[in-house]
Amino acid sequence: MGVPGLLAETCGVKIPEHITLSILLAQFGVRQEYGLSGTTLMIVAGCLPDVDGIAIVAGWRFYRRFHRILGHGVLVTLSAPLLLAGPGGAVFGWSGFPLLWLWLQVSLLGHLITDVAFYDWPVQLLWPFSRRGWAFGLVTWNDLVPTSVLYAATIVVVCRPALAMPASGIGIGALVLYLLWRAVQPRSHTGWSGWLTGGWAAQAAPVFRWLTGDFIT
Ligand SMILES: [Zn+2]
Repeated sequence: MGVPGLLAETCGVKIPEHITLSILLAQFGVRQEYGLSGTTLMIVAGCLPDVDGIAIVAGWRFYRRFHRILGHGVLVTLSAPLLLAGPGGAVFGWSGFPLLWLWLQVSLLGHLITDVAFYDWPVQLLWPFSRRGWAFGLVTWNDLVPTSVLYAATIVVVCRPALAMPASGIGIGALVLYLLWRAVQPRSHTGWSGWLTGGWAAQAAPVFRWLTGDFIT
């Protein structure tokens, strides 16, 4: 199997999905308190585990060996939000430091939870202390339903700031409900369930894959 085929079967949640989820999580206080800078910090925390994706510059074999391991392990999980909150506290004031740290931790955990829930590439959450990986594989590769939910809620957040918090709550709630439904609903290739479970995605035109942020497969 070539690299694209392997990617199609094994990649994790894609960067646009991590960015939009981080933006939605920022609407529960961080954006209101710290503005665009706070939202940017949430995005950085929400994407940070995938820095191990740059392992691909060292070659496909190296990438396969270390992506979803180095940046997704417990040491980065526990230290990165604190390290990010430090500059945030210095700039915004230390009184809000604990809450900012907490929300950055939530953003990073949102990344790990979706990585584990979505596709079928085990995430080694306890690396370097354990090589055990977790993957639920609930979402079909390039299934546009979760992506569309995240995009739609983010568009509302950007265009209608007054509705940002309810839109974020509805978007994240819909994503959770979809994942729970996928846990009991097997993938289908026909009818409405075929559309809703991503059964069409493998034969879809490239533009639909691009929408999810996949420019490789
Ligand atoms: Zn990841």
